[in-house]
Amino acid sequence: MRAAKTPIDIVVSEVGPRDGLQSVARTMATGHKKAWIDALHAAGLREIEVGSFVPPKLMPQLADTAELVAFAKTLPGLLPSVLVPNLKGAERAIDSGAHAMLLPLSASHAHSLANLRKTPDEVVAELRRIVDLRDAKGSHCLVEVGISTAFGCTIQGRVEPAEVLRLVRAAVDAGVDRIGLADTVGYADPLQVGTLFEQGIEVAGDKLSCAHFHDTRGLGLANVFAAWQAGMRRFDACTGGLGGCPHAPGASGNVATEDVAYLFASVGVPTGLNFNALMALRERVASWVEGEPLHGAIWRAGLPRTVAA
Ligand SMILES: [Zn+2]
Repeated sequence: MRAAKTPIDIVVSEVGPRDGLQSVARTMATGHKKAWIDALHAAGLREIEVGSFVPPKLMPQLADTAELVAFAKTLPGLLPSVLVPNLKGAERAIDSGAHAMLLPLSASHAHSLANLRKTPDEVVAELRRIVDLRDAKGSHCLVEVGISTAFGCTIQGRVEPAEVLRLVRAAVDAGVDRIGLADTVGYADPLQVGTLFEQGIEVAGDKLSCAHFHDTRGLGLANVFAAWQAGMRRFDACTGGLGGCPHAPGASGNVATEDVAYLFASVGVPTGLNFNALMALRERVASWVEGEPLHGAIWRAGLPRTVAA
């Protein structure tokens, strides 16, 4: 395990305004998204994926991304990131002044073709073009690749760890700043997670820096813990576990931000997050997405008396 570099050892990176809302049909008002980002910042979060530069026609829910990046940059110390589907999106991300942009790369060949209409290696080539564009523009926007379906795929089934590690190596060679492994569809188990992150660190070192889990089948927090034991320190999470899985109707979404905060509080690892503020925010987000199911566990009973908020 790597030693703590700062008093706050864990970065919880909120993905609600992007990953969480992506599967919500009704468009959330920009004012509510700003209130959400503002409250996350007040609760101690310093990294938030605020939206995506996909064509607004494809995803009207996320059409206000540039405005949200600008808003997030007014909050002290907050680092907004955005998802980008391709070079065009990357250009908009750079122009928006986002701190980081995340390009999804599917480790499953079948998933990649179905969702991105590109092979994984074609996505790696796009990644290289994005790094070149960023450098040519003199931008400091970090380029991150999120390797999705890294632990299994609803279309293809098994995804070979060797293929995931090959893509990790290819991403390093393409010049990316950060790499994450994502269990997009909730197939991962904690032993698999520990092994793959350990192997990934051997290939990419500190560049492998993010773990993204969905709680589709109830193993989300166990997988977070396994990735932490393997050396990961940054975890994606979503307020109230909002968001589903496009390939598993009715399934729960990302691990809940307040659950991840509780997990690390329970083992005495500092996250810098204010638990009560997160719980209050959960209620507000629930009212903004009325009718959408929220998930997670800690909200039901609250903190035990033995754990400080
Ligand atoms: Zn996700």
